[in-house]
Amino acid sequence: MKKVVQLYEAGLEEYPVRDVIAGNLTMVALIAAGTLACWFISPAFGIAYAALSVVMVYVVMRRLVCTRCHYFGKRCGTGWGILAAMWFTRGRIEEFNQSAGVRLAPVVYGLMALLPLVAITVALLGGATTSKLLVLGLLLALSFYSMGPGRRRACSVCKMRLFCKGSAAK
Ligand code: SF4
Repeated sequence: MKKVVQLYEAGLEEYPVRDVIAGNLTMVALIAAGTLACWFISPAFGIAYAALSVVMVYVVMRRLVCTRCHYFGKRCGTGWGILAAMWFTRGRIEEFNQSAGVRLAPVVYGLMALLPLVAITVALLGGATTSKLLVLGLLLALSFYSMGPGRRRACSVCKMRLFCKGSAAK
C-alpha cells in the first residue's frame, strides 16, 4: 500500500468547470435512473434509494474521502472537494489510502449500480415494457461510462493518481 504522498506533477491543479458539470450530470442521471428502476418494485423503495444515494454521495462520502484529498477546497473533477470544504475540516492527506471512505467507495458505488440493476431485472421478469427497457439501457450505459472511461479520464489528469490506491489510471 502506498504510504508516501507523491503528487503527479503534470496533473491539473483545478479541473475545468465543464468536467464538474458533466460529472455531476452523470451522477444525477445515474441516481435518477436507479430511482426509476427501484420505483418499478415499489415507490417506497425508489424514494429510499434516492435519499440514501444523495446522502451517501454528496455528504457521507465527501466527509470520508475528500477531507484527506489534495483537492480538498479545490475544484476536482466533480467539484466535490469544494463541497467537502464547505461542511468539513481538512484531514491528513497521508491517511487518504487508509481512510474508511477509500475502502467503502467501491461498495457504495457498486451497490448504487447493482441494486437498481437487480430491481429492473425483477421488474422485467414481471413483464417487459418499453419504459423498463429504456431504464435498463440508461442504467447500463451510465454505469459503464462512470466506472470505465469517465473515471479513467478523470484519474489520468488527477494530482493524486500516483498515490491514490483507487486510481483508475496506473
Ligand atoms: S486518482 Fe482518481 S479516484 Fe483517486 S482521487 Fe484522483 S480522481 Fe479520485
